[in-house]
Amino acid sequence: MAEHAVSAEVEGVSVDLRHWIGGERVSSESTFADISPIDETELAQVHSAGAEEVDRAVAAARAAFPAWAALPVAERSAILRRVADGVEARVEDLSRVETRDNGSLIRSHRRGVMPRVAMNFRFFADYAEQLAHPDLEVRGHRERVTYDPAGVVAVITPWNAPLMLATWRIGPALAAGNTVILKPPEWAPLTASLLADITAEAGVPPGVFNVVQGTGIGAGAPLTAHPGLNRLAFTGSVPTAGVIAAAAAPNIVPLSFELGGKSPLVVFDDADLDLAVDLAVEQFDNAGQVCLKAARMLVQSSIVEEFTRRVVEGAARLRQGDPRDEETDVSALITRRHFEQISGFVERAIADGARPLLGGGPHDELGGLFFRPTVLVDAKPGSEILTEEVFGPVVTIESFETEEEAVVKANDTRFGLAATLVTGDPERAERVSAALEAGTVWVNCFFVRDLGAPFGGNGRSGIGREGGVWSFDFYTDIKNTVFAPSGWSS
Ligand code: NAD
Repeated sequence: MAEHAVSAEVEGVSVDLRHWIGGERVSSESTFADISPIDETELAQVHSAGAEEVDRAVAAARAAFPAWAALPVAERSAILRRVADGVEARVEDLSRVETRDNGSLIRSHRRGVMPRVAMNFRFFADYAEQLAHPDLEVRGHRERVTYDPAGVVAVITPWNAPLMLATWRIGPALAAGNTVILKPPEWAPLTASLLADITAEAGVPPGVFNVVQGTGIGAGAPLTAHPGLNRLAFTGSVPTAGVIAAAAAPNIVPLSFELGGKSPLVVFDDADLDLAVDLAVEQFDNAGQVCLKAARMLVQSSIVEEFTRRVVEGAARLRQGDPRDEETDVSALITRRHFEQISGFVERAIADGARPLLGGGPHDELGGLFFRPTVLVDAKPGSEILTEEVFGPVVTIESFETEEEAVVKANDTRFGLAATLVTGDPERAERVSAALEAGTVWVNCFFVRDLGAPFGGNGRSGIGREGGVWSFDFYTDIKNTVFAPSGWSS
């Protein structure tokens, strides 16, 4: 077997480059290059799993399942709270590595993302302990509803918020008594390895949590087609979701899909314009590489000119540069290929008549993978830039006349992940929020959500909901036991 490096030093943090299977580090014969978007340098050659390593991980997860499932929930939850403590103790390391690996802002990781990773364990550990359904009764019979662990859960995640999105699935899956195999994204695989270290230190038993590193084709494909899975949670793009659904279908594995979006920001002329502009400028967070991003701004015609001018001014003030600098607002795109895709979308939109009022292309001074925040107007109705997900720092602004027209335009999409509405009229807020077709609707706010609330998308944006009890609905086999009225089971 070729000898590959087993660890790398990234931003002063030592990261193991191998898989984590059955409580052991496992090597592969092949590797893939992990490139930082900040300067396109190679951070490491990460071990790349194929069918053999995937088989080994599924076997380890299956072997560990009975004991983990049988552990009293209070003991499982205590271990998961220790994982949360371990994440909190390593927020700085995790932030530095994630920033270097996927180019997102260090200040977001330190203040929001990594504390949320810890919450993903703590919240669902607490929730599992009080998960209960009241008994039902029919003709004197008592019905008891229980949430049994489902088995082995595969978790496949994208690169835009890898650790946060992975633990949002792993937290409830483990809390419910399942064992997990994580396949992180090949464009940002490193924090998954640090999570493996943290789970081991916290006392998660061998095989309960496993990581297989690798590409979508190399590791993802054999994992999703594996007959040993009981649940498959995927976060990523619509085309990949289609491939995964087909791969999992013969095994009848229940799927939870969190996919892309083309979400609207609807601004009425009765809105607090300062708020509307702030919410609009916020859409350039993470260089627009956010599934929930409100990319389509729909603005009432009487204020569209002022709104547009102020959004352009606000977005022009954003500081673009190295995400390791706390002052940076907008970073680089994840890969050269992704950069070219975003450039292609914008070039075709402009060729088709759209006008860039800001940006419209690469950042000439910064070079590399830095694409300028871009505001487009006059896009042709029905054109690609208004209908396809553009996972970058690009927004469009269109106008509408009436509330009815706003709702029709907002809902005119195959996606349905989120919608944001800005209005000063409480009755309009009720009417329009009820009419918007999306998994999450924000009224005069954005990105606020409790982990107990349902999250997911309509249409092409996904299958199912997670969060609170909805996570346990997915990660458990729900059983109804009916007791005859014998008297001894009350
Ligand atoms: P992607 O679909 O290209 O990849 C996601 C994951 O799937 C990666 O780990 C990849 O290796 C794996 N994969 C690729 N091909 C596979 C195959 N044939 N079999 C199994 N696994 C395979 O997505 P991406 O580019 O990493 O992420 C961006 C997309 O994710 C956007 O569409 C974005 O909207 C979406 N997203 C959705 C949410 C949400 O919560 N709804 C959150 C973040 C990102």
